[in-house]
Amino acid sequence: MSNKVAVVTGSNKGIGFSIVKGLCRQFDGVVYLTSRDEGRGNAAIAKLKKLGLEPEYHQLDVVDKESVKRFRDHIQEKHGGIDILINNAAVANSADFYNSYEENTRIVEINYKSILLMEEFIFPLVRENGRILNISSDCGHLSNVRNKYWIERLSSKNLTMDDINEFVEWFLDSCKNDTFKREDIADEGTVAAYRVAKVALSAATMLQQKKLEEKNISVNSMHPGLVRTDMTLGAGFYSADQAAETPLYLVLDAPDTLKGAYVWYDGKVRDWYDYNADYYFKTSTLKS
Ligand code: NAP
Repeated sequence: MSNKVAVVTGSNKGIGFSIVKGLCRQFDGVVYLTSRDEGRGNAAIAKLKKLGLEPEYHQLDVVDKESVKRFRDHIQEKHGGIDILINNAAVANSADFYNSYEENTRIVEINYKSILLMEEFIFPLVRENGRILNISSDCGHLSNVRNKYWIERLSSKNLTMDDINEFVEWFLDSCKNDTFKREDIADEGTVAAYRVAKVALSAATMLQQKKLEEKNISVNSMHPGLVRTDMTLGAGFYSADQAAETPLYLVLDAPDTLKGAYVWYDGKVRDWYDYNADYYFKTSTLKS
């Protein structure tokens, strides 16, 4: 076996679990299934062992700095680096389309701010020519934003992490102060925290690409489709195993030139900046 290493966050169930399963079969190296809860993680490992697969396990809560540092130290000592990193962990907006400030803060922390922790502590372990894939959403396309000021600012060629972080704080402040305007976000502002977090994630992906260019690491974000998992309460047109195919293609087989892109579930690159496009998430699709 080679010394290569692949890591998937939030992989005790859903799409992350299916990606780990696929990596165990197709990737020539060690595959890490990680989870915030050890019990759920070990149960997932047992399922894969029954299939004759041999993933490694480590606890990793992507919003817990100490957990992220423990994972970093483990990988550093045992393997020295990572070749494939899939940032998949996330939570849904709950069954309600409009949430409290506290819920919105939690969603933004897990779905966006976690990537800042991962960038600080785990990205430095990613080896030359490595691949990073951020699992975003159709909610992560710029067309989910309807506020003109933020469309312009997020579209800037000189975009910085400060711009993205201020966008996120603008949204959270509006929830805190009860000044959130539904017309600022697509689909009448439904699942706004999830949309804001995923837009921020896809925007950050492009900046991460620039930072990691020197090491020829690719960093892309993708929308996995509407997938039948716990997150959608079982709604969707894809199974998790089917949905894992494009992420697997992106980290294993896509050309080296695919960098800083926003990719759709069919593997095609979509123009993230096209804010007039009809790519934003419609809550009505959950009922169809
Ligand atoms: P899921 O079945 O709910 O799985 C989410 C995973 O993330 C679970 O393993 C969960 O662990 C984990 N997680 C949550 N918070 C975490 C934390 N702080 N640290 C580590 N792990 C954490 O959802 P899914 O549908 O597979 O979603 C996978 C990815 O696809 C997400 O990024 C999601 O936003 C994206 N996505 C999904 C759909 C869809 O239709 N399903 C559509 C667009 C995008 P626990 O079991 O401990 O909660």
